[in-house]
Amino acid sequence: MTGIAGKVVAITGASSGIGEATARLLAERGAAVVLGARRGARLDDLGGEIRAAGGRVVTCTTDVTLRADVEALVARAVDEFGRLDVLVSNAGIGKIGPVAALDTDGWSEMIDVNLRGVLHGIAAALPVFQQQGAGHFITTVSTAGLKIVPGQAVYAATKNAVRTLMEGLRQESTNGVVRTTSISPGFVRTELDAAIDDPALRDQIRRNMDDFGLPPEAVARAIAFAMEQPHDVEIGDITIRPTVQG
Ligand code: NDP
Repeated sequence: MTGIAGKVVAITGASSGIGEATARLLAERGAAVVLGARRGARLDDLGGEIRAAGGRVVTCTTDVTLRADVEALVARAVDEFGRLDVLVSNAGIGKIGPVAALDTDGWSEMIDVNLRGVLHGIAAALPVFQQQGAGHFITTVSTAGLKIVPGQAVYAATKNAVRTLMEGLRQESTNGVVRTTSISPGFVRTELDAAIDDPALRDQIRRNMDDFGLPPEAVARAIAFAMEQPHDVEIGDITIRPTVQG
């Protein structure tokens, strides 16, 4: 299936930022969207807006750290719309800070959401894609993994683990069934700073987002571009950053 209209797309981290913008754009362009995140009320509000605009949408409260929740998200897509064409594994947290702060709980959270959450998505969706003979994994990684900067080492490590995972999955999928795409955004104006504990670091990141961050819709358009290619065309990596970002 080519294009966006008619595809069934599950999106994790759909309650704000990039996930929310992606849900709106894909629904506008005729995809059926299945929205997952922990904040169910935010998902329901968004779902209501998409439905009122004529879109096809269901919501499913999902914690990606729990395999059963991600299985339920994928099952919801199949139950409601008969198939799953794309899984956008976008949920992520950025508990950034210097390694020497030894925020081992924050490290674990990032590993659980940013890496294990994506693995849970693969475990849930790969059998569906194989059975259908087609499917597309799209993940949101980060330029933090391309240009390593102090204070973001562990966050970048989780993102680069996902990048590696996508490349390995790609190489194991040359029978033409599965497409993989890693999207690496630079600064985007979202709520990602909320998880940063250090107030000075949080303020600095917030300032960068507000001063020159991309609108989340820009990343949504990149996701749509990867999705709308014919099935024999795989967009493996997209880097998208503000023109002024160093
Ligand atoms: P937001 O904080 O606005 O969105 C993050 C989303 O992830 C929310 O919907 C949140 O929903 C969800 N989420 C967090 N933890 C979980 C969980 N355990 N289970 C399910 N959902 C979860 O930030 P962004 O839109 O910026 O983030 C989206 C992705 O983009 C992330 O992977 C982030 O790392 C990446 N990214 C962002 C950049 C930026 O500058 N903003 C730059 C590069 C990459 P809820 O809390 O309701 O569960």
